[in-house]
Amino acid sequence: MSKKVAILGSTGSIGCNTLAVIEALAPDYEVVALSAHSQTDLLVAQATQCRPQYVAITENGNFEPLKAALGDFSGQILAGPDSLVDLAALDEVDIVVCAVVGAAGLPAALAAAKAGKTVAIANKEPLVIAGELLTTAARDNGATLLPIDSEHSAVFQAMQSGTPDEVRKIILTASGGPFRNTPTEQMNNATIEEALDHPTWDMGPKITIDSATMMNKALEVIEAVWLFNMPAEKIDVLIHPESIVHSMVDFVDGSMIAQLGTPDMKVPIQYALTYPKRVKGIAKGLELHELGQLNFQLPDLNHFKALKLGFEVAKTSGSAPVVFNAANEAAVAAFLDGKIRFGQIVELIDHCLQAHSPQAHLTLEALLQVDAWARQEVHQQLTQKTVIG
Ligand code: MG
Repeated sequence: MSKKVAILGSTGSIGCNTLAVIEALAPDYEVVALSAHSQTDLLVAQATQCRPQYVAITENGNFEPLKAALGDFSGQILAGPDSLVDLAALDEVDIVVCAVVGAAGLPAALAAAKAGKTVAIANKEPLVIAGELLTTAARDNGATLLPIDSEHSAVFQAMQSGTPDEVRKIILTASGGPFRNTPTEQMNNATIEEALDHPTWDMGPKITIDSATMMNKALEVIEAVWLFNMPAEKIDVLIHPESIVHSMVDFVDGSMIAQLGTPDMKVPIQYALTYPKRVKGIAKGLELHELGQLNFQLPDLNHFKALKLGFEVAKTSGSAPVVFNAANEAAVAAFLDGKIRFGQIVELIDHCLQAHSPQAHLTLEALLQVDAWARQEVHQQLTQKTVIG
């Protein structure tokens, strides 16, 4: 019988790559549900191609145009933010791929864990915001959480070589983004175009900016704490500009196990879908002799302040990671709108963390209230035009 997959966020780069992987894995894998936020045209093209049983659009206003464009589509069409939760818990779904950008995908990831699904997590927010709730829900309901993020997939693959108590360090690699060698002052005044010019990975704008600030790595440290049940003190970050070694695990006996591959998200996506098996894939293999050399350097935490903040936040559980993530989302949106300088992204995050009193063991509702507060706080800072920067 084929494995049935729901792709939440199918029109983003992870969603499109997931569809390509599944197409190549047919007939062993089959898409039964697709969701998108607002890209109706692409969603219609995908639904026409793979004929799922369910199609959802989270932006309510796009429901009628979607319905009209789907024409004689025989499956169900859903609309609104709650439709993601409905898709995640469908009886006929085995694997839920969570690739919704931002905190919007959180309730669906939680619903998938509660429904005992295999939950392939591509976005960082579910584990960053609700790591405790999500890992508890997965444990209590027999769900399996699998990483799609390339670094965590690499760590997960390396972990197959030992047990958690044999781990000395988890080492997450980072490309260092476009500003690795840019003077700090120049980086802080970078234009949107400069920040979006990522050297190795082709990703969406929000994630590309997060890569430039190294906020993505900071979020990945927090994500790794929950995913691998490791204290933050056992997680390191290493800059590796070629993005070939996707991360590694340093074991107590002195062996370091790394996962290497071309920078292509189809590899971690396929591993999450076929785990614990490996099957022939469509991603190009690696020819190490063509690369000649691989480079590594320690990140400068005074240059990449978001990473410094991330290590601090990762040591505290509870609501601090929620503020860290939400303030970043709001600040990145403001930067992409041309409202703030690049350097102000991390200043706004730092401001929100300092204005917040962290609380532990919160419910999803309470976590989302903290999330909303941090966004509001960023907006207030922007409208007040206070002394930031
Ligand atoms: Mg990553």
